[in-house]
Amino acid sequence: MNVKQELEKYLSKSIESSSNEEVFYSLLELTKQLADGKKQEETKKKVYYISAEFLIGKLLSNNLINLGIYDEVKKVLADNGKSMAEIEEIEVEPSLGNGGLGRLAACFLDSIATLGLSGAGVGLNYHLGLFKQVFEDRTQKEKANPWIEDKSWLRKTGVSYPVSFGKCTLNSTLYEIDVTGYDNRTNKLCLFDVDTVDDTIVDDKNQFDKTDIEKNLTLFLYPDDSDEDGRKLRIYQQYFMVSNAAQLIIDECKAKGSDLSDLYDYAVIQINDTHPTMVIPELIRLLVAEGMDMDAAIDVVSKTCAYTNHTILAEALEKWPRHYLMEVVPQLVPIIEVLDDKVRRRFDDERVAIIDKNDLVHMAHIDIHYGYSVNGVAYLHTEILKDSELNHFYNIYPEKFNNKTNGITFRRWLLYCNENLTNALTDWIGDGYKKDAMELEKLLAFENDKEKWDALLAIKHQNKLNAKEYFKRTQGIELNENSIFDIQVKRLHEYKRQQLNVLYVIHKYLEIKAGKIPTTPITVIFGAKAAPAYTIAKDIIHLILCLQEIINNDPDVSPYLNVVMVENYNVTLAEKLIPACDISEQISLASKEASGTGNMKFMLNGAITLGTEDGANVEIHQLVGDDNIFIFGASSDEIIEHYAKADYVSRTYYENNPVLKKAVDFIVSDEVIKVGNSEMLHRLYNELLNKDWFMTFIDFDSYVAAKELAYKEYENRDAWAKKMVVNIAKAGFFSSDRTIAEYNKDIWKIEK
Ligand SMILES: *Cc1c(COP(=O)(O)O)cnc(C)c1O
Repeated sequence: MNVKQELEKYLSKSIESSSNEEVFYSLLELTKQLADGKKQEETKKKVYYISAEFLIGKLLSNNLINLGIYDEVKKVLADNGKSMAEIEEIEVEPSLGNGGLGRLAACFLDSIATLGLSGAGVGLNYHLGLFKQVFEDRTQKEKANPWIEDKSWLRKTGVSYPVSFGKCTLNSTLYEIDVTGYDNRTNKLCLFDVDTVDDTIVDDKNQFDKTDIEKNLTLFLYPDDSDEDGRKLRIYQQYFMVSNAAQLIIDECKAKGSDLSDLYDYAVIQINDTHPTMVIPELIRLLVAEGMDMDAAIDVVSKTCAYTNHTILAEALEKWPRHYLMEVVPQLVPIIEVLDDKVRRRFDDERVAIIDKNDLVHMAHIDIHYGYSVNGVAYLHTEILKDSELNHFYNIYPEKFNNKTNGITFRRWLLYCNENLTNALTDWIGDGYKKDAMELEKLLAFENDKEKWDALLAIKHQNKLNAKEYFKRTQGIELNENSIFDIQVKRLHEYKRQQLNVLYVIHKYLEIKAGKIPTTPITVIFGAKAAPAYTIAKDIIHLILCLQEIINNDPDVSPYLNVVMVENYNVTLAEKLIPACDISEQISLASKEASGTGNMKFMLNGAITLGTEDGANVEIHQLVGDDNIFIFGASSDEIIEHYAKADYVSRTYYENNPVLKKAVDFIVSDEVIKVGNSEMLHRLYNELLNKDWFMTFIDFDSYVAAKELAYKEYENRDAWAKKMVVNIAKAGFFSSDRTIAEYNKDIWKIEK
């Protein structure tokens, strides 16, 4: 293919005389056409990955890489006076996800296509998606984030299904986005929508009539659920998603020859967290409507569905009041009652019931009883599910439980985002690692090679310069490329403990003020959105922004310590920050982070992890060994015991630790109150002293010690570069290609 000719066909003029916008939209059309040409006939069995979110990121360059023409396109553009980087910036990042769970779904779709498996993602086409974060008066404000343009990756199909609710019936429209595999087939992400959705009902505070389902159904991902109408809206969305999915699956399986009694030979449904759980009763309902008897329908559906658990946080395990379901989806309630009744007949144990004594429907319990597989997302997480969180279920169904440690796609998180490192690696070990990530281990041959160390350090420095340029231009942020980039980017949640990092920053600030100057300057970088109704999370953001103001403007301190909070952290910003990172902050309270995937992206890009023994950090630690990671903090066993005994008292730590006390007191000092909001700062201070549910203080001393050690070891550049080599070399295990191969071998069993 002649890229220039093809592109100019879409432009109907020369590349040189076209604007960046024109070039982008022509590339988009060309890419869609090429991706379309790689669609394949589906095999008998196909996986349907149903998920409330798909955090797919920008698609142009990713697709060009997967189609094998990225370098060529870049060259043609350059030869004709255009910059690939500038053209990439025209694309708007789709706002279809929230955090790790949505990004995981996106990585999985990439790997399913890359492994040549028949599979589709199924979700909703949110018009405004998750909010856009802006900072005003050093606080987070939420703005609408429209992302759908006239020309986009979405393809409108003629597929439409009726979905009935208690009060109305809505007809869906199916849109599709191509999912390109790396040097392999193209699959689809299926996004359902309603034609009547109307974003003009949203006011400038991002508020809208939550009861106007026809107009609001596919506006927002995770609409505010702090009131009853908001919670019901979530049920409307979930049912709309799964009823469409179920109708699509039945249609496709029938078309392939299924008589529905053998549905499980044609389809496997992976239920990503509890949001798509209603697909189970909905499929049963539809099979019964097709003439199957109830017991047979339950049996068929139970052999078709598999469930992934993503969290042990109680607030994330969905429980819907039966009367909400009665109002929104009355047709499902009798089926859920049958499912509960069958469970109650078999097990005289209230803890495994589906409908509890308070008339709450436990969605995860439906998944576990009526799916054939239950998987956790990292070794430690799955062990905790089996031993404590879901132990009653594990005792009943030990054969259903299995672990699938998460992974990330190396196409986006190495080949695309870190071209410098990719080129060096290919030079050194060939390009086999691009298809078989375990080949990165070949790098270990260079563990003691000074030339490679220097090259890796030079690449890191260049990536810092690239990040500096980007954040200066887009957010007016000044980054010091000669400082240590110490980065914590992820959703804001108390269990992830950004507040622990913040307490360290205060401690360091006070030390520098007292004359204790660090050898190398430090930049602590945060990026995080807080859920709009999560007050304490917003207070933590406020504190970070206040510290940014105070510290960066203090001439005694700013040459040695800077604090930066980037606005609206998303996939695009992750791609800029991760390649530039030295220290990867993975400091969740042990037992609370199911896996994490940010930790894997950083490791792959040569950052060294500073973390607790939590989630996949445990596996990173095992792979790289004690010398190539900084581990601190209480173990998950200790933490689980504290919760069981309810014996953690944050105030005791505060009273017995003068260093900690000084840092905590600073939150409400005159210095901070002067630039901040006294109510927010006092609320955070009181929360830490009187509650601190995620035990920030328990790990303060060991965190400070680990961080000081990491900064000290950074000074020995050779030793640090050697750690980088080991981390990159051992990252192959975390390729989502490995994860998906395991899902297929153990759960899906799709033949190529
Ligand atoms: C990878 C990723 C996440 C998940 O990060 P964790 O540290 O695992 O929580 C969240 N948001 C974005 C934009 C990501 O790319």
